Amino acid sequence: MRNQDCIFCRLASGQLPMTKIYEDDELLAFPDIHPKAPTHILIIPKDHVVTSIAAMSEANQRLLGQMLWRAKLLAEGQGIAEAGYRLVFNVRRHGGQEVDHLHLHLLGGRRLGPMA
Ligand code: AMP
Ligand code: ZN
Repeated sequence: MRNQDCIFCRLASGQLPMTKIYEDDELLAFPDIHPKAPTHILIIPKDHVVTSIAAMSEANQRLLGQMLWRAKLLAEGQGIAEAGYRLVFNVRRHGGQEVDHLHLHLLGGRRLGPMA
């Protein structure tokens, strides 16, 4: 399902421009438009499956595993795996989530500070 009002759905359907870093049948990865680190990649399901981790059901577990596995492989591909990186799911308002389409942040390329 794609949602016309959702910015990530619009990116996934090609209605908004985006530099693809990775794509398969289910997932898409692209650079964050406001990078917080030298490497800042967003990994999303192409479909508007759920808004966030908080909205997931048990049936979405496999998708979550795929996102995390893809993040690991992308970190290796980006050459940041050895030094280390951070994976972040912001969840709803208190978690700082701005886009209500499940996404995983992959951040690296510099030593990241303590989490807020
Ligand atoms: P979150 O705060 O976890 O919801 O993260 C949403 C992220 O999406 C933010 O880091 C934004 O910079 C990023 N973002 C918003 N619009 C775009 C876009 N058109 N292309 C790439 N990244 C975007
Ligand atoms: Zn969406």
